Amino acid sequence: MVVGVLGIQGGFSKHKEMIDSMGYDTKIIRTPDELKKTDALIIPGGESTTFLNLFDKLDLEDAIKEYSINSPIMGTCAGMIVLATKVDSINYSPLGLINIEVNRNAYGRQKESFVDKVNIELNNRLIKFEAVFIRAPKIVNYGSDCDVLAKYKDDNIMVQNNSVLVCSFHPELTGNNVIHKYFLEKFM
Ligand code: GLN
Repeated sequence: MVVGVLGIQGGFSKHKEMIDSMGYDTKIIRTPDELKKTDALIIPGGESTTFLNLFDKLDLEDAIKEYSINSPIMGTCAGMIVLATKVDSINYSPLGLINIEVNRNAYGRQKESFVDKVNIELNNRLIKFEAVFIRAPKIVNYGSDCDVLAKYKDDNIMVQNNSVLVCSFHPELTGNNVIHKYFLEKFM
């Protein structure tokens, strides 16, 4: 089983380190051909506009959409933004692979980034998780085919549908791999 981490920009190396340490075969993905050779994909944080611009240039937009028909995808922060159906203040169409509407930079700029404890529901158990928010987006709406797995105060910050898992924060930065483990065991 091969786990792909999209490596065209942003914070892909920490995701790779975490998944490597869990004993999976992990590949950095930069082309549609490389994507086809994986069984699950992680889209990291970074800059969502840059991702969407590069998807177009690297022919990854259709490739990722087609991939998602049979393979699971996890998106963190900017990775969540690009997977959404509706995004505020952006000149590109997101991929629309999970029925959520998100607002970018909704907790403020870089200097307003923060870490806080949140409760996450994984397999019917509540788990305390230290969540790192960096210019994080908010999920302001979600469809009836989505489940909310975590909230921060009144905001939904982690949502799944049948094949896509997204979160506003950076689970690869805390050394706690429960979210990656959940994704790889539940969605594969
Ligand atoms: N604010 C960034 C964006 O809109 C996301 C930040 C992140 O991925 N840490 O793309």
